[in-house]
Amino acid sequence: MSNSSQDNAASLNKNAPQLTTSAGAPVPNNQDSMTAGEKGPLLVQDYQLLEKLAHQNRERIPERTVHAKGWGAYGTLKITGDISKYTKAACLQPGAETHMIARFSTVAGEQGAADHERDVRGFALKFYTPEGNWDLVGNNTPVFFIRDAYKFPDFIHTQKRHPKTNLRSPTAMWDFWSLSPESLHQVTILMSDRGIPLSPMHMNGYGSHTFSLINDQNERVWVKFHFKTQQGHKTVTNAEAEDIIGKTREGYQERLFNAIEDKRFPKWTFQVQIMTESQANAVEFNPFDVTKVWPHDEFPPHDIGELELNRNPENYFAEIESVAFSPSNTVPGISHSPDKMLQARLFSYADAHRYRLGTHYESLPVNQPKCPVHHYHKDGEMNTYGGIKTGNPNAYYEPNSFNGPQDNHDLEEPALALDGDAARYSHKKYDDFKQVRDLFVKVLKGDEKQRLYDNIAGTWAGVPEFICERQLALFKQVHPDYEAGVRESWEKIKQSNEYVPNSHPVTEKTPETV
Ligand code: NDP
Repeated sequence: MSNSSQDNAASLNKNAPQLTTSAGAPVPNNQDSMTAGEKGPLLVQDYQLLEKLAHQNRERIPERTVHAKGWGAYGTLKITGDISKYTKAACLQPGAETHMIARFSTVAGEQGAADHERDVRGFALKFYTPEGNWDLVGNNTPVFFIRDAYKFPDFIHTQKRHPKTNLRSPTAMWDFWSLSPESLHQVTILMSDRGIPLSPMHMNGYGSHTFSLINDQNERVWVKFHFKTQQGHKTVTNAEAEDIIGKTREGYQERLFNAIEDKRFPKWTFQVQIMTESQANAVEFNPFDVTKVWPHDEFPPHDIGELELNRNPENYFAEIESVAFSPSNTVPGISHSPDKMLQARLFSYADAHRYRLGTHYESLPVNQPKCPVHHYHKDGEMNTYGGIKTGNPNAYYEPNSFNGPQDNHDLEEPALALDGDAARYSHKKYDDFKQVRDLFVKVLKGDEKQRLYDNIAGTWAGVPEFICERQLALFKQVHPDYEAGVRESWEKIKQSNEYVPNSHPVTEKTPETV
């Protein structure tokens, strides 16, 4: 034993557990690597040294392509209302209490991004129900930028870093938005006060998409799920956010973690809006278009429960980083809708987790259902609990004669009537302005409109003027005051020293087509 090791051994707490290798064997020395002579080179037989370095090299997994920066906690969903005539889901029956985990996030920033950046917030919930995991993977806004997932990779490219400059590009964002009028609704909410909540506790969560509920008579209704903050909406301005970020980049993590440690448990009222199948055929907008809300006067929200977050994770990586949400996780009585964005997410979320975490990511403790699991997926990374769960090694395929798990046709959903030929239908014919106008005219009050104008114009430094003009023309179709307000704010900012016209390398030349 070397002298330094003897010194260290002397200072050890006798009650501390024995350090072991990952295979469980005691580690005699964690201070000095093994060398050929005191001043000589390292020995390759010092496996523990190699093990430590190899593990360190593997401490990072791919961060989420979107929603990389997140904050989360465990809690409980309690059902206090009665929607049993609409759904047979056990977790939605009166009095049901379901253990769950929530993860909130920003969309565009990387894992180290500052929490108080202007962005849409993810609001993802996993309910560990007795019938399997139900994941509601929503946002803090009721709508989304696009209505067809075919455009999702393009849209996200505009939010991420420019390939050459490695900078975020307002030019790319406004170029895409100004060419995609369906984004107006979400852009307006993003640029309004709600674009920077004070903390995850001070914002609503929306399932955003249209989902379905199915009752024990196998009848379907369409629904929107909402979680309304009981802490009240609190938001910060750009200037306040800059001030916070100047002091801490982790403002959400600190607030959420500390509130729960201090037992100031945040709560949300759980609401549903319900639309019958015949109403869906009659409404003037496409009820499966995620750029639209369901107006409250026609489809009133019903309070049906309460969500409370009351326990912090013990290990951020194992729980919040490794939690894997997918809208494809539904349970009997809750299902999907023809919403095109939702349909694509049914594939892409689980696929993202297979890439990011591994094939059997649902074997990780945070993702494991709390009910028996019996499936026939076999082998692959992390198959620690997957595969056959019957205890019968002969039943690893289906059908089989060895009492393997079987499907239950009683749970088949009601058929969904379809209409029309298979084709690529243009979504450009939908109205993109009316609901934005309702928001602008009815909902945004007083100073909030001015902050909306300033927030938008404040991002236009360096954006080519033809793009700003194209966006202004869209605002004008919402309301002339919207266009005039942003234009006036833009003109003011142009006079200031901070305005750098067309500075972005990609847009030094205006395309000839413009
Ligand atoms: P309502 O007047 O009944 O609803 C307006 C809703 O707007 C409020 O209930 C609130 O929803 C939300 N809201 C309030 N302040 C803001 C804000 N600063 N930024 C964003 N949303 C805000 O009218 P309608 O139902 O007819 O909706 C009118 C417009 O309100 C819609 O076009 C949409 O833009 C917006 N909206 C509507 C929602 C809906 O589900 N109907 C949900 C959210 C926004 P909440 O209670 O969810 O906070």
